[in-house]
Amino acid sequence: MDPFQLQTQTFKSNGFRWMDADAYLFDIDGTLLVTRDPVHRNALHLAMREVYGVDTTIDGVAYHGRTDLGILRAALDRVGVSHDAFETGLPAALEIVCRDVSAHANRIVANVCSAIPDVLERLKTAGKLLGVASGNLESVGWQKVEAAGLRRFFSFGCFSDHDERRADIFRKGVVEVQRRLGEDARTCFIGDTPEDIKAARLAHAQVIAVCTGIFKTDELTSYEPDACVASCAELLGTDFECKGQTLSS
Ligand SMILES: [Mg+2]
Repeated sequence: MDPFQLQTQTFKSNGFRWMDADAYLFDIDGTLLVTRDPVHRNALHLAMREVYGVDTTIDGVAYHGRTDLGILRAALDRVGVSHDAFETGLPAALEIVCRDVSAHANRIVANVCSAIPDVLERLKTAGKLLGVASGNLESVGWQKVEAAGLRRFFSFGCFSDHDERRADIFRKGVVEVQRRLGEDARTCFIGDTPEDIKAARLAHAQVIAVCTGIFKTDELTSYEPDACVASCAELLGTDFECKGQTLSS
């Protein structure tokens, strides 16, 4: 398939053309990569133990699509840490998370999701601006992306260091795209959770949902993304049928 055809591919049922945006902002966990190590999780546990004095875990917290701040808040609220105590300890806790992940960065095992390098290469070659929009803390997120060998593709990233709500992170991403490319620049997010879809809508951007995390097509399409694909391989036309996306234009 030649490049022109690729750029004009259309998701037939709603007219969404995935190559029409000017900038593409990718979620990390479940979208670019899946980690197979306890580094991030252990760092969160260490922070909760050292700062708040509670020996607890994030097990059972619905952390997919949540920011690191949101995960910590939920895990600590569950064991009775008050709002005020949480806020007071937060700067120290975040510092510990970042420091501990950095100390064990060589143990991060990041499996790249299907076709991600090819999609990033295709977008880069087409002159698109590429960024990361993630609920990770900045240093944690970049270390995962680095471990996956994908750092060279991205010009910037938006993270949860100062924003607990994903929608605020995504809004900052759109603002950064407009700062770099102009007010009319169009942003498309790519993410694997309902939270990504909702945050992209609140940021008035397009969004492609991918089923490479824990959520499946039926669940993600119910939040009405512009397209929903099993993996980014479908964007390259290798298995192009777009399953079950909404009919809205
Ligand atoms: Mg994710």
